[in-house]
Amino acid sequence: MRLSRRQFLKKTGCLAASLVSPLFFTPSVRGQLLKRGLIKIKRSPYFKSLENKKIMCTLCPRYCVVEDGKRGYCEVRENRGGIYYSLVYGNPCAVHIDPIEKKPFFHVLPSSKAFSLATAGCNFDCKFCQNWEISQARPEETFNYDMPPERVIELAKEFGCLSIASTYVEPMIFYEYMYDIGRLAYKEDILNICHSNGFVNPGPLRALCKYLDAACIDLKAFSEGFYRDITEGRLSPVLETLKILKEEGVHTEIVNLVIPTKNDDLNMIKEMVNWIKKELGPDVPLHFTRFYPQYKLKNLPPTPVETLERAREIGLSEGLKYVYIGNVPGHPGENTYCPNCHKLIIWRLGYRIQELKLNEGRCAYCGYPIPGIWSIEKSKREARRLKKASTKRVEGMPKMGSRIRPVRNAPMAEPIKSVP
Ligand code: SF4
Repeated sequence: MRLSRRQFLKKTGCLAASLVSPLFFTPSVRGQLLKRGLIKIKRSPYFKSLENKKIMCTLCPRYCVVEDGKRGYCEVRENRGGIYYSLVYGNPCAVHIDPIEKKPFFHVLPSSKAFSLATAGCNFDCKFCQNWEISQARPEETFNYDMPPERVIELAKEFGCLSIASTYVEPMIFYEYMYDIGRLAYKEDILNICHSNGFVNPGPLRALCKYLDAACIDLKAFSEGFYRDITEGRLSPVLETLKILKEEGVHTEIVNLVIPTKNDDLNMIKEMVNWIKKELGPDVPLHFTRFYPQYKLKNLPPTPVETLERAREIGLSEGLKYVYIGNVPGHPGENTYCPNCHKLIIWRLGYRIQELKLNEGRCAYCGYPIPGIWSIEKSKREARRLKKASTKRVEGMPKMGSRIRPVRNAPMAEPIKSVP
């Protein structure tokens, strides 16, 4: 019997798990009003009106056609009287301060802190999802912070974070929120970064790139069959996203989670590596990360380290310059080596930086330039913003300060009393 996501959540009791919100904050911030359910909604800029008050969502390649009163696949966008709304604007259910290496970004401000957040919902249903308690939940099934973009910026500054990361679930489903956070972050010395499955349409993506410094994209396999069977998504739009990020000058790193028997075919990995080199260039950092049994793939073993090593060897021998092994703390494949003099220039142990031998983005030994964001240079960001501003205005681009509607009769929960 196939259970709906909601039934599955209830049966497995994961709803309770999802309510254990990551409260790491100081007492003053802890009073940040954690509420059960919807707090605010915001009109989506990306939909087309159809007959009988139906709409078609144009944010991601699913192009959901949604009847009045219903939601799209991601469960966080709802048709109300022929107008499409995001139900999660300013309502993150997960908020953490993470090392930026955890995203994983290995070429962005090493050892800095990333203010990381996610709302409920996702436009994929990956069988190996680590965060399925929130990615497969509706926003009324999680406890959510009332945290508008302005507050996110304040908190990021208060906690000394140099970046704000939209992560944990697919952040494009809370696009309007991420976009407005980016607009504000660009006025500060804070990077706007994301970890995404790359399943978004070109129009919204190009609009977002104006305020996006770095993207970590999951390239889950180089196979449409894998995407269809394991993620309920498609590969080709993800490849298109990677090409657009390169065109738009957004720093990009790629993550390939290697799952035994599902996507660990070394010929497929070689094909993927060659596509990356040809279309994106040899400088794009590529992370082969270790799978651990999760969610609907608990029957599989963790990825053998030798498989990851073999994949890394293929990446390097095919000409990529920065190929990493992830989720194997202490492995030499976690480190960055200068492609010119081959010396160790960033020594990592898990998410911690042990030693950094870079001078203004160059190898400290031979001066070779290493791609990445090694400092926040306002002039570079401004140049990119202006370049984007001069390009064609993308249809439906959100406007700052557009109206946010409080949700009437939103169910409220008791405040959390103890901090885990
Ligand atoms: S963003 Fe959500 S509603 Fe829109 S097309 Fe994608 S899955 Fe459907």
